[in-house]
Amino acid sequence: MLSVRDAENIIFDLVQPLNTEKDENIEIVDLFDANGRILAHSVVSNLDFPHWDNSAMDGYAVRYADVQECSRDKPVNLQIVEDIPAGYQPQITIQPGQAARIFTGAVMPQGADTIVMQENTRREENRVAILTAPKPEEFVRKRANYYQAGNPLLAAGIELKAAEIAILAAAQCPQIKVYRKLKVAILSSGDELVTPNQPLQPGQIVDSNQYALAALVQQMGAEPLMLGIIKDEPEALKEAISNAINNADIVLSSGGVSVGDYDYVEQIIESLGGEIHVRSVAVKPGKPLTVATFPSTSSFTTLYFGLPGNPGSALVTFWRFVKPAIQKFSGLAEGWKPEFLQAESLHDLRSNGKRETYIWGNLKVNNGAYQFQVAGGSQSSGNLINLAQTNALAVIPVGQKLINKGEKVQVFLL
Ligand code: AMP
Ligand code: MG
Repeated sequence: MLSVRDAENIIFDLVQPLNTEKDENIEIVDLFDANGRILAHSVVSNLDFPHWDNSAMDGYAVRYADVQECSRDKPVNLQIVEDIPAGYQPQITIQPGQAARIFTGAVMPQGADTIVMQENTRREENRVAILTAPKPEEFVRKRANYYQAGNPLLAAGIELKAAEIAILAAAQCPQIKVYRKLKVAILSSGDELVTPNQPLQPGQIVDSNQYALAALVQQMGAEPLMLGIIKDEPEALKEAISNAINNADIVLSSGGVSVGDYDYVEQIIESLGGEIHVRSVAVKPGKPLTVATFPSTSSFTTLYFGLPGNPGSALVTFWRFVKPAIQKFSGLAEGWKPEFLQAESLHDLRSNGKRETYIWGNLKVNNGAYQFQVAGGSQSSGNLINLAQTNALAVIPVGQKLINKGEKVQVFLL
């Protein structure tokens, strides 16, 4: 049985980001469709930001030398030679004794070097009295102060969100190349499983994993390929898994990976030419986790995760192992590795000390400090109900049986 750390390292080594040198791994999208996508190329702009010296205030563009000594008692009077709204190209060079009326974002006129905000002025027809001496170059946004043309603007492998999309718009890149969405096949195995709309016979269980996994895959920006419920029959399972590996980048099956008499997944993976890298992990819940690769059927290796069937186990193993793998595979250059926070535990947390134990609950902020509150009710891997509205997993390391209330605990944010 592998430790969590070893299993994680094996999985991360198996996963490589999609190769952007292959056209089929790239999509061109409009910026309005770019939210959540991963940029497949670096971006360099030939524009400076700001594009021009411009005013940060509504006020007057002046020559600093003219106004450096003025005050309310000794105002300086300047002649207004031009009105410069935003979007207008100034026509007149400001001479000594002159000023231009200017508005926020408008281009600085030649000759002027400083803005006086209008609150510090008094307008008298075509003249303005400057009542307070500004600082030199005050309220001027200098060309290229935020970004200089030719420098790296955005790096490949970043997730595009509001700020990045706005930057691409400002840099006049209305279409960009992003990594294609990964296809993730999802199947459930078990004779006892039924769909949510089937009447339940004694002993039957609704296939909830398929719904949980589809939602998680969508959250990762990947495309779920739903393959339904497969009976615990070797032939049916073999056909379904073979179909899955031929049509997806990643396959997630749940159920059938323990050591029960009806658990065939490992045998089938091997019979289809897959190589098994992980068979079980010292994690609770989630011990019977299978990870395999299938050699490229077309241009890529398919990654196979056989998740345990218990709903709590399927979710915990997804969050802990599958999510980072999908993020790395998708092209995300950084930030795909799981991160842990330290929080004060609001309860005693217990484990048998033999496996790394994950306890679900809520991470809260109280007076600026993190606190972890365990979800009420059973922490059984068969219990799905108290996972509702949880946002974090607390971790009890191997060898530790108790984390006392009030002590620090490592928490993994979902
Ligand atoms: P298995 O891993 O097949 O031994 O299943 C372990 C437990 O998880 C059993 O109680 C199954 O009924 C349950 N289970 C398996 N697959 C699912 C599923 N897709 N949705 C909900 N529960 C499941
Ligand atoms: Mg089963």
